[in-house]
Amino acid sequence: MAEIDRAAALAAAPAELFIGGRWRPARGRAAFEVVDPADESVLRRVADAGPSDASDALDHAVDAAADWAGTVPQRRADILRAAHDGLLRRREEIATLITLEMGKPLAEARGEVDYGAGFFRWFSESASRLHLDGDYGVEPGGQYRIITTKRPVGPTLLITPWNFPLAMGTRKIGAALAAGCPVVIKPAEQTPLTMLLLAEVLREAGLPDGVLGVLTTTDAAGLVQPMIADPRLRKISFTGSTRVGKLLLGQAAEGVLRSSMELGGNAPLLVFDDADIDAAVDGATVAKLRNGGESCVAANRIYVQSGVLEEFTGKLTERLAAVRTGSGLDPDTGLGPMIDARQRDKVAELVDDAVERGAELLLGGKVPGGPGYFYPPTVLRAIPADAELRTEEIFGPVAAIYPFDTEEQAIGAANDTRFGLASYVFTKDLSRAMRVAEALDSGMTGVNRGVVSNPAAAFGGIKESGLGREGSSEGIEEYLETKYIGLQL
Ligand code: NAD
Repeated sequence: MAEIDRAAALAAAPAELFIGGRWRPARGRAAFEVVDPADESVLRRVADAGPSDASDALDHAVDAAADWAGTVPQRRADILRAAHDGLLRRREEIATLITLEMGKPLAEARGEVDYGAGFFRWFSESASRLHLDGDYGVEPGGQYRIITTKRPVGPTLLITPWNFPLAMGTRKIGAALAAGCPVVIKPAEQTPLTMLLLAEVLREAGLPDGVLGVLTTTDAAGLVQPMIADPRLRKISFTGSTRVGKLLLGQAAEGVLRSSMELGGNAPLLVFDDADIDAAVDGATVAKLRNGGESCVAANRIYVQSGVLEEFTGKLTERLAAVRTGSGLDPDTGLGPMIDARQRDKVAELVDDAVERGAELLLGGKVPGGPGYFYPPTVLRAIPADAELRTEEIFGPVAAIYPFDTEEQAIGAANDTRFGLASYVFTKDLSRAMRVAEALDSGMTGVNRGVVSNPAAAFGGIKESGLGREGSSEGIEEYLETKYIGLQL
């Protein structure tokens, strides 16, 4: 059964570049292999774009910009809604493709299709309301009228990571298209197939030629740099590591590009003595194991108050020990492979470093043999202050538990990082919940829940976790400029 699904899903994904509304090979006819992280087999070969392909895609986006900006918002909304329906119609195919190229369990991949499609529905509704945005008023001296309205930023470059191959795309594409911006998107080289299938869904939904370009490549830097330097590009939106985000911000400064950055995290999860411990274990499990821990909002540091430290640690360890590791296509799998050998080795090195410095390993911690980039659910405690995983984003299924005594201590430790994306608090005391949530330096805080992502909520970070917000009513603003007109009557 899985074999049939696998073959059908792979056959459904285009393997060429999507430029000007057409599928075509890279100019140099180069291609690269996409690998299944569960068994290291080659899934497909896809086109490997170079700078001349990028220049073609940008030409088409620039040519399409005026028409797309002039397309009535209702029509843009209809296309996004049709694409939402198209994604849900092809849910199984897309979910299987996500599992094949990214590794997450099929149930989570189905969840990603629903979540990803949700951005198209959300932004189709935002597009419908766009024409209502703006102000009309008299300037304070009474001399003339002030009118403000919104207009699309213009041609936009989107760069996405491999951990949510569909949703990181729809979150940006939905907002940009709703606002009236044409886009060129470069997905991560590990997971290009889902994005290519998404382009086909948008084409079928009636998206005009040139409004979307998809460039798959093994040379991200070489492809992207000339596009950023091209004065016709007006915006860049990036999701990925803080290191690359800083690099791109530097490049974007030259042309003063509007920039949105969703970067790395180092989320703290705080469990107080007065928490519902079973609910906290549920929350920590999902905040840790969702997406194999390969999520920028994953709980990277779990702080537990001393009164419940033993109970919480025992229950969490028991819960993670029961999770089965294996191919995401197997319905019993709770944890799939890491994305690639590099990521798996990075997680292993962080755990080894902590253990060598004296941390206590309660579960996992050993790379299994055999094909596939697997790493087991792992629990560490008594982690010394100089262990690298205190400050580094783990991006893997490793629960690192730290004790604390007082609320002030917990807040101080939680905020002691240059990141500020997500945080989590577990307590039954409402006053404490709000006090702590307000004191945590992060763009998002989950109170008594381990998941915060939602198309209707503002997703984004502070400090080195990024600039701007995605989803919510703010998401579309990232792709709009305010235009003011002074009117003399
Ligand atoms: P990455 O930064 O290496 O890659 C992200 C994307 O950038 C990929 O498409 C990649 O090909 C591209 N890229 C890499 N180098 C580039 C360059 N020099 N110029 C242009 N593009 C370049 O990160 P990753 O390993 O794919 O993802 C893991 C990181 O992403 C983690 O740090 C994680 O926290 C972060 N992330 C953040 C969010 C968020 O919403 N804040 C979401 C997912 C992942």
